[in-house]
Amino acid sequence: MESTMNCSEVERIVWADGPDAAPATHLVECRSCREEARRAGDLQAALTGMRNRFALPPDDLEDMIVAAVTRTRLAWARDIVAHPKFWRGAAVGAAAAAGVAGAVFAARRRGLARAEVA
Ligand SMILES: [Zn+2]
Repeated sequence: MESTMNCSEVERIVWADGPDAAPATHLVECRSCREEARRAGDLQAALTGMRNRFALPPDDLEDMIVAAVTRTRLAWARDIVAHPKFWRGAAVGAAAAAGVAGAVFAARRRGLARAEVA
């Protein structure tokens, strides 16, 4: 039965089921199918290597990361917000933003903003 297979059937098997599933007698006789089987084998090996390199993480990894990050981030955020410097910084930032906005308005009134932006 193997010998009655034509090249396109063998190629389909090589890519669908893997090079090992291809009829050996055909591969011995047919150079193009042998090449195709070698290419499929190379790809299979490469994909297997990638799978090993990028191993799937455990299912609960995301939960673990979220739990750990949330805990430290929350503590960190609480420290920052509770710190008086934060509010001083926020006030300075707001004042600076207001200052920039005021300067832009003033410049626009003088017709300079467009020249500076462009
Ligand atoms: Zn062939």
